[in-house]
Parts: sequence; C-alpha cells; structure tokens
Amino acid sequence: MNLPDSLSIKNGHLFCGSADCVGLAEKFGTPLYVTNENHIVENFKRYEAVLKKYTDKVQVLYAAKANENPVLIQTLAREGAGADVFSLGEMKAALDGGMPPEKLLFNGSSKTPEDLRSAIEAGIKISVDSVDELRQIDEITKEMKKTVKIGFRVNPEINVPTHPKIATGIKNSKFGIPAEMIIDSYREALAMEYVIPVGMHCHIGSQILEVEPFAIACGVIMNVAAEITKLGVKLEFVDFGGGLGIPYRRGKNADNAPTPEDYAAAVMPVFVEGCRKAGISPAFWVEPGRWMVGESTILLTKVNSVKKVHKTFVNVDAGFNILIRPAMYDSYHEVIVANKADAKDAGVYTVTGPICETGDILAEDRELPEVAAGDVIAVLDAGAYGYSMSSQYNSRPRCAEVLVNGDKVELMRRAETYEDLTRAVVYPSWHRK
Ligand SMILES: *Cc1c(COP(=O)(O)O)cnc(C)c1O
Repeated sequence: MNLPDSLSIKNGHLFCGSADCVGLAEKFGTPLYVTNENHIVENFKRYEAVLKKYTDKVQVLYAAKANENPVLIQTLAREGAGADVFSLGEMKAALDGGMPPEKLLFNGSSKTPEDLRSAIEAGIKISVDSVDELRQIDEITKEMKKTVKIGFRVNPEINVPTHPKIATGIKNSKFGIPAEMIIDSYREALAMEYVIPVGMHCHIGSQILEVEPFAIACGVIMNVAAEITKLGVKLEFVDFGGGLGIPYRRGKNADNAPTPEDYAAAVMPVFVEGCRKAGISPAFWVEPGRWMVGESTILLTKVNSVKKVHKTFVNVDAGFNILIRPAMYDSYHEVIVANKADAKDAGVYTVTGPICETGDILAEDRELPEVAAGDVIAVLDAGAYGYSMSSQYNSRPRCAEVLVNGDKVELMRRAETYEDLTRAVVYPSWHRK
C-alpha cells in the first residue's frame, strides 16, 4: 500500500511520525484521532508556493469545516493561511486562531441576520449567495453605518465528476447565482451606499480527482470578471474555492489524484490570461480543505470482537458517530491492523462500528491479516470531515484527538465524558425532583 508521508511501518507496528500507533491507542484510549502537524504545515507551504510561481498575489484560505480544531487553525494561521468560514463558530475559531479578518471570507447559502451583522462588525468579506441576502446586507450596513466588502458566489453550472452530495457547482445546486444572472447582481450592489463589491467566488465541489473541471470553471469565472469590470467593479480578489481530491484508495486500483502542481498548471494560465484580457490584477484566492488536512490524520479503533457468519465482521469501537464519511458518501478509507502492520493478509473482513444501524460500516470486504479482539485498526486519511462531522449519536461521547510533532505527542482535544452528553439538558419544572 502506498502510505501517506506521515505514516510508516516499523517492527510490525504502524507509526505516525515518530509515534507508535499501538502505544498511542494504549496510552490515550480508543477511538482516537491522531494528526501529524508537520504534514499540514508542509501541505500549506507546497500549495502556496506552487500558485505563487504564476502570480504574486495569492491567498490560501483553509476551509475550516474540513477540520475545525482550533489548534490546527492556529497551525495554519502561523503559516499565513486565511480561512473560508461557513458559520459564526468557524469565524470565531479563525479569529481566535490568529487569522486576520482581511484573510477571511464568510460563505454560506443561508445566513442569518446575526451572521451578517457579526461578519460586518468584524470587518470580514462576505460571499453573497442571493440578491435577497444582498438587500439584507444593504439594510444592515445602513443601520450600522459601516461598509462591507463583498463578492458574489457564482454558479458556473458545470458537471463535476464526484459524489452528487458534494458536487456544488452543478446547475441544480443550491449554491450560488447562475453566471447569466450575476451582472444584474453586481449592478445592484454597485448602487448601494455601504456595500463595496470587490470579489467573486465559486466552489465547484469536493474530492475532485481531475483538474479539467477547475480550469473550465476558471474560464467561466474570468469571463464574468471581464464583464463586471466593464460595469465598474474593481476586483480585488477572485476565489476559486476548494475541492482538490486526495488518493483514498492506496492499494490495488489506487486513486490517481492530481497534485497542487497539476492543479496550478491547469488553472493558473487560464487565470493569468483572463486577467490580461480584462486588464485587471486581482489576487488569486483558493480554499482547500480536504487536501490540507485529509492525509495528515488517522483514526485508531480497537477490535471488540470478530464474528464469522456469512461474512467475517470485525466489530470495532468507532462507528459513523466518529467517522461518517463511509456511511454518508460511500467513501472508501484504507484500513491497516496497526499491531500487525507487516503481517500477511489472511482473510476478507468487514469492519463495522458499534452503532445501532445496519449502515454502520467503516470498511467492507477488505483483505487483512488474521484479526482478533484487542487488535488496533487504523483508518487512514481521516483528517478531513472526520472529527468535524462526528456526533454523539447513540449517546456516545466523542473521542480524543492527539497531535504529533517531531518526537512530541500531546492531546489537542480530550475525549468527552458522559457528563458532556447531558451538559445542555434542561428539565422542565414538572420533571424536577
Ligand atoms: C467545503 C468547501 C471548501 C473545501 O472543500 P474541499 O473539498 O475540502 O477542499 C471550500 N470552499 C467552500 C465554499 C466550501 O463549501
């Protein structure tokens, strides 16, 4: 199997950086998310550097929803990242993590008046998703007597080869304003007293394993950029969203995932040429989430029992409460028996969680070494949309997260307790004892 850089196999055990995963499971308990911090730092530097080869005004905005642990946001802030934030919680995390407001973009198709007011108050640019939202922003800024810089989210209406639940730039998606309606939106914004249209935004989807759709979207967006420039809009940034995929399949039939270098080679010439034609020089913004953090993290889970029936089930202690991607998107994650990492495959196993649902399957029909109760299984590439999409379903506290940096290993989030489960519960008066 083609392991990510942050993992290795030594003396039969799986290692994350310098840390023995079997030892980590013993010390911190399972389930356990384990993140290699250096991997994220390297990813950020690489993504930024390759884009800067084509244009000097580049801002990488980390898509906070991929993994919103404040420690990792701080890691990325220190490297100079901004963030794509989709809620006030993500906005707070980004600001607390040390990201300056001018490097943030407040996104979302369904923002509350409170979202809008808070973003304007904090001096954060807003990606506006509808004309209705624009008019609300107009009212709020007049009330506050405060200006706001905005861009519109444009739906480039292109088909993207990914799971339908994460294709966001297709014609019937709920996101964005179609390109043919966007000119009127900018015209309306230009006439507003406190609203300054300075940007444009698009995001075509997630886990995309080809670069052509990004280049096509870039072409559509740059055509719109030229038109709105003629209207009088002075573009400061054009944000092309995230979506670059990672190779979840690492064994036989491995995914052939494009690199940031491939992405830049396909997209940047279109951007540079579009700027030249329109006579503009906006900054190039991009919002990778999965690519920044996905491969940096594994999920460790312990085997409770093995059941041989029509299939052989490996019952582990992490289910879709901890990692929902396989159940929600039919996603594939490689699994490795961390304490038998170089043992020969001995059978076909289906790894299932403890949740009371038939669909609680982490990995189906995988060839693994002989598995027994007590073994530790590592689920690979769990850094994006893992913990951030976890829940307490079945009254299960969420697990801990540890951070590995060189020879240091420490918690970056403790496991929840049973008290945490009921912290927000209030008994109505007639239920009080
Ligand atoms: C989710 C999202 C991203 C990140 O997508 P990835 O596939 O994780 O890179 C970026 N921008 C917006 C607007 C998003 O909704």
